[in-house]
Amino acid sequence: MAMRVVTIREEIRTAVSRFMKAWGGVRADVPVHWNRNVTFGQMRDALSALDLETCSAGDMAAIIGNPSWARLECDHCETDVEAVVRIGSEPDDDARWQDLCKNCISEALRQFDQQPHGGSDGY
Ligand SMILES: [Zn+2]
Repeated sequence: MAMRVVTIREEIRTAVSRFMKAWGGVRADVPVHWNRNVTFGQMRDALSALDLETCSAGDMAAIIGNPSWARLECDHCETDVEAVVRIGSEPDDDARWQDLCKNCISEALRQFDQQPHGGSDGY
Protein backbone atom coordinates (compact mmCIF):
# COMPACT_ATOMS: atom_id res chain seq x y z
CA MET A 1 0.00 0.00 0.00
CA ALA A 2 1.16 3.49 -0.76
CA MET A 3 -0.10 6.97 0.05
CA ARG A 4 0.81 10.21 -1.71
CA VAL A 5 -0.60 13.56 -2.72
CA VAL A 6 -1.61 13.82 -6.39
CA THR A 7 -2.29 17.26 -7.86
CA ILE A 8 -4.35 18.32 -10.85
CA ARG A 9 -1.09 19.58 -12.43
CA GLU A 10 0.28 16.03 -12.43
CA GLU A 11 -2.89 14.85 -14.15
CA ILE A 12 -2.61 17.68 -16.70
CA ARG A 13 1.07 16.84 -17.36
CA THR A 14 0.25 13.23 -18.26
CA ALA A 15 -3.11 13.79 -19.97
CA VAL A 16 -1.78 14.52 -23.47
CA SER A 17 0.48 11.46 -23.55
CA ARG A 18 -2.36 9.30 -22.22
CA PHE A 19 -4.65 10.76 -24.87
CA MET A 20 -2.06 10.11 -27.61
CA LYS A 21 -1.61 6.54 -26.44
CA ALA A 22 -5.36 6.00 -26.75
CA TRP A 23 -6.08 8.04 -29.90
CA GLY A 24 -2.73 8.80 -31.55
CA GLY A 25 -3.18 6.04 -34.13
CA VAL A 26 -6.46 7.32 -35.56
CA ARG A 27 -6.16 8.99 -39.00
CA ALA A 28 -5.92 12.78 -38.73
CA ASP A 29 -8.94 13.47 -40.97
CA VAL A 30 -11.35 11.28 -39.00
CA PRO A 31 -13.98 13.28 -37.08
CA VAL A 32 -13.83 12.76 -33.33
CA HIS A 33 -16.90 10.68 -32.54
CA TRP A 34 -17.66 12.42 -29.23
CA ASN A 35 -16.91 15.93 -30.55
CA ARG A 36 -17.81 16.03 -34.24
CA ASN A 37 -16.80 19.66 -34.73
CA VAL A 38 -13.15 18.59 -34.98
CA THR A 39 -10.99 15.84 -36.43
CA PHE A 40 -8.55 13.73 -34.46
CA GLY A 41 -5.71 15.59 -36.16
CA GLN A 42 -7.08 18.98 -35.10
CA MET A 43 -7.62 17.75 -31.54
CA ARG A 44 -4.12 16.27 -31.30
CA ASP A 45 -2.58 19.48 -32.69
CA ALA A 46 -4.51 21.62 -30.21
CA LEU A 47 -3.49 19.40 -27.30
CA SER A 48 0.15 19.40 -28.43
CA ALA A 49 0.13 23.21 -28.49
CA LEU A 50 -0.87 23.45 -24.80
CA ASP A 51 1.75 24.45 -22.24
CA LEU A 52 1.23 21.67 -19.71
CA GLU A 53 2.83 23.72 -16.94
CA THR A 54 0.41 26.62 -17.23
CA CYS A 55 -2.79 25.44 -18.93
CA SER A 56 -5.83 24.60 -16.83
CA ALA A 57 -7.84 21.41 -16.71
CA GLY A 58 -10.60 23.55 -18.25
CA ASP A 59 -8.39 24.44 -21.24
CA MET A 60 -7.85 20.76 -21.83
CA ALA A 61 -11.52 19.90 -21.39
CA ALA A 62 -12.47 22.64 -23.87
CA ILE A 63 -10.28 21.05 -26.54
CA ILE A 64 -11.29 17.46 -25.87
CA GLY A 65 -14.96 18.20 -25.27
CA ASN A 66 -15.13 16.61 -21.82
CA PRO A 67 -13.18 16.86 -18.54
CA SER A 68 -12.35 13.19 -18.12
CA TRP A 69 -8.66 13.33 -19.14
CA ALA A 70 -7.51 15.83 -16.52
CA ARG A 71 -9.67 15.47 -13.49
CA LEU A 72 -9.30 14.59 -9.82
CA GLU A 73 -12.45 13.55 -8.04
CA CYS A 74 -12.64 12.68 -4.35
CA ASP A 75 -13.93 9.14 -3.96
CA HIS A 76 -15.75 10.03 -0.75
CA CYS A 77 -17.56 13.35 -1.45
CA GLU A 78 -17.37 13.02 -5.28
CA THR A 79 -16.24 16.65 -5.67
CA ASP A 80 -13.74 17.72 -8.36
CA VAL A 81 -10.67 18.99 -6.50
CA GLU A 82 -7.16 20.34 -7.17
CA ALA A 83 -5.40 17.71 -5.05
CA VAL A 84 -6.12 14.40 -3.36
CA VAL A 85 -4.32 11.93 -1.16
CA ARG A 86 -4.15 8.70 -3.14
CA ILE A 87 -4.21 5.66 -0.89
CA GLY A 88 -3.60 2.18 -2.25
CA SER A 89 -1.88 0.41 -5.10
CA GLU A 90 -1.87 0.93 -8.84
CA PRO A 91 -5.07 -0.47 -10.31
CA ASP A 92 -4.76 -3.99 -11.70
CA ASP A 93 -7.62 -6.35 -12.48
CA ASP A 94 -9.85 -5.35 -9.60
CA ALA A 95 -7.82 -3.62 -6.89
CA ARG A 96 -7.99 0.16 -6.91
CA TRP A 97 -6.72 3.17 -5.09
CA GLN A 98 -8.90 5.66 -3.24
CA ASP A 99 -8.56 9.39 -3.83
CA LEU A 100 -9.54 11.54 -0.86
CA CYS A 101 -9.72 15.34 -0.74
CA LYS A 102 -8.40 17.51 2.06
CA ASN A 103 -11.90 18.16 3.44
CA CYS A 104 -12.64 14.46 3.74
CA ILE A 105 -9.24 13.73 5.30
CA SER A 106 -9.95 16.54 7.80
CA GLU A 107 -13.34 15.01 8.55
CA ALA A 108 -11.66 11.63 9.11
CA LEU A 109 -9.24 13.26 11.58
CA ARG A 110 -12.18 14.90 13.38
CA GLN A 111 -13.78 11.50 13.76
CA PHE A 112 -10.56 10.14 15.30
CA ASP A 113 -10.46 13.09 17.67
CA GLN A 114 -14.04 12.47 18.78
CA GLN A 115 -13.08 9.04 20.12
CA PRO A 116 -13.32 8.95 23.95
CA HIS A 117 -9.56 8.56 24.34
CA GLY A 118 -8.55 11.01 21.64
CA GLY A 119 -7.89 8.36 19.07
CA SER A 120 -4.12 8.63 19.07
CA ASP A 121 -3.51 6.34 22.01
CA GLY A 122 -5.28 4.12 24.44
CA TYR A 123 -8.51 3.52 22.53
ZN1 LIG B 1 -13.84 14.60 -0.41
